[in-house]
This record gives sequence, structure tokens and C-alpha cells, in this order.
Amino acid sequence: PLVLGIETSCDETGVGIVRGHTLLADEVASSVDEHARFGGVVPEVASRAHLEAMVPTIRRALKNAGVAASDLDGVAVTAGPGLAGALLVGVSAAKAYAYALGKPLYGVNHLASHICVDQLEHGALPEPTMALLVSGGHSSLLLAPDITADVRPLGSTIDDAAGEAFDKIARVLNLGFPGGPVIDRMAREGDPEAIRFPRGLTGPRDAVYDFSFSGLKTAVARWIEAKRHAGEEVPVADVSASFQEAVVDVLTRKAVRACKDNGVDHLMIGGGVAANSRLRALAAQRCEDAGVRLRVPRPKLCTDNGAMVAALGAEMVARNRPASAWDLSADSSLPVTEPHVPDPAHP
Ligand code: ATP
Ligand code: MG
Ligand code: FE
Repeated sequence: PLVLGIETSCDETGVGIVRGHTLLADEVASSVDEHARFGGVVPEVASRAHLEAMVPTIRRALKNAGVAASDLDGVAVTAGPGLAGALLVGVSAAKAYAYALGKPLYGVNHLASHICVDQLEHGALPEPTMALLVSGGHSSLLLAPDITADVRPLGSTIDDAAGEAFDKIARVLNLGFPGGPVIDRMAREGDPEAIRFPRGLTGPRDAVYDFSFSGLKTAVARWIEAKRHAGEEVPVADVSASFQEAVVDVLTRKAVRACKDNGVDHLMIGGGVAANSRLRALAAQRCEDAGVRLRVPRPKLCTDNGAMVAALGAEMVARNRPASAWDLSADSSLPVTEPHVPDPAHP
């Protein structure tokens, strides 16, 4: 199926077009620079930017894909979770566009999209899929027997998301926003074993599939503070590498454990933090040691984009899932257990 997907859950206006598992266009307009001076995404600024970028981004995607809008089999859009005002811009645009074209509308889940996007890179997802979803707002281990209809959380963070921890530590180190990509770069020059930072929730009595990054964040901030207090220079590369190692050590350990415990022989890693080079390397190594096959999409498909929404939409069409109603609304806290929002009249 030929599907156009629209993503506006945060600060990226993404429009992607796919035919089944084939990526035809992936256009992203980001307002990240407008948020940088505030040190985080400002919802009102993001909504305004989506509004301005929407029509040109849709046009660019259609042009680059070389397809006619009339040939689409459906229009998919992120219905949630995300920033309410930002989501609303995408949902309104998708509704108007689908209605005008006479095509079915599919309101889909942003988190399931972060997983489904891997079909564009490595083909059909195995069923069930074991997914480690690590992004700016989420860190979870998910078991998905069917990405269009059945997604089960095994565990998730009890405090900060992994990406949030990267962003906060980058802020303490004055590295700017978003922090993940900068820390990733700085860490390449540092020693991951220079400082032994705590690994949250890895004790014998801790929940095996849950994560915690707030204790780590505090430990790193205190360590930096102590250095500054003593008038010593902060070894930014070593701190970045050691902090990053603490995060990815726990993520990969628990993800491989989840695969083994549940008899799943492959692992998918998705979400913005899956772009992290050390996470990708350590996951590859540990999966190989454990006999688990690793699937991680290329970095551009890990961070927010429209292609991932189109990928999940195409899967909905392929599996004959019901379309959404024309009064579909954005749901800022759409649970991960709901991959899409079917028309309640035709469930
Ligand atoms: P969610 O998907 O939970 O709604 P989001 O959409 O804001 O959150 P994504 O775009 O999926 O998040 O991911 C953004 C996050 O990924 C940011 O916290 C960013 O710092 C982090 N990130 C991006 N690249 C890297 C990297 N190379 N290393 C570590 N973190 C990264
Ligand atoms: Mg972003
Ligand atoms: Fe995201």
C-alpha cells in the first residue's frame, strides 16, 4: 500500500511516503534551532512552526516520491502521545488532506511508529517483536506480537527517559540542546571507564525490566559540581563517555535479558536515543554474544520523522485495520498499548 504519513508530536514536522516496506520520501523540517536558546522544546513555538512547515513539507514529500496524491491508499498521522498543540496541527492537516482526497485516515501511535519504521530498513518485523524504545520522553521494553494491534509493555523507566537524561547532562555541561548528539560526539574522545557512575535498578531485588536514570543524572551533576567547586577543570569528554556508558550498559543488559527470558531471538531498538553510536555498538556486541539478532534502523529513521508514521499506516492498510473516524482527536497521552485509534463505530 502507498501511504503518506504526517508526524508533529514534538518539534519535527515530518512527512514521509512509503509503498509497503519501501521508503519513497522522508522530509523533515525541524524547529529545534528556535528552541535551543530555551534549553528545551517550547510547545507554542513548536505548534506555530508545524503550521508554517506543514503544506510545503507535504508538497516536497510528494514531489520527491514522484507519486500523485490521488494514488495514495491512505493518510496516516501521529495521534499521540506528544505535545497536545503540536499533535493537533498534524491531525487537522491529515484529516483535511484525507477528506479532500477521499482517502482513509489512520491515526497511529508515535511509539509504535518508532518500532515499525524498521520495516523500511530490514523488512517485515518478526512476530513477536522485542523492542527497546528509547527516546526523549520514553524508555521501555515492549513485546509486540502484532505491531498494529498488540503491544505489551514489559517495563519502563520509573523516572527520567534515557533521552531526557542525555539532554539534562548536556545542559549541566553547557553543551547545548538537544544533548544526545553532542554527548555522543564528545564521548568519542573520552574514556568510558574514567568514572564509575551508578547503574540504576540493577540490584538483585530491582524490577528486571524497569529503568531509572534520575539517580545517575544526580550522581553526574554532583560529580561535575564537586570538580567545579574545587576549581578543577571538568573533563567533558570523560564525563560524557562515562555517563553514556552507564546509560547504554543498563539498556543493553536489560534488553538482552528480556529477549532470553521471553524466548525471542531478535531485538529491535528504536526512538531518538537509538541513534547513539555507543548504544548501537554495545547492543551489537551483547546481542552477538547472546545469539540475538539485532535490528536498528539508520540514525535518521530513529529520530522523529514522517516515514515511520507512513510505515505503520501502511501496515494498518495491509492488515485491513479499521480507519479512524473523521472526528479523530489528538491524544497527548495515547498509551503504547493502542497502536492506532480505530473508528469507534467500526472497531
Ligand atoms: P518521544 O518519542 O518519547 O515522544 P521525542 O519524540 O521527543 O520523544 P525522539 O525524537 O524520538 O524524541 O528522540 C529525541 C531524543 O533523542 C532527545 O532526547 C535526544 O537527545 C536523543 N538523541 C538523539 N540523538 C542521540 C544520540 N546520538 N545519542 C543519544 N541520544 C540521542
Ligand atoms: Mg526532536
Ligand atoms: Fe519520538
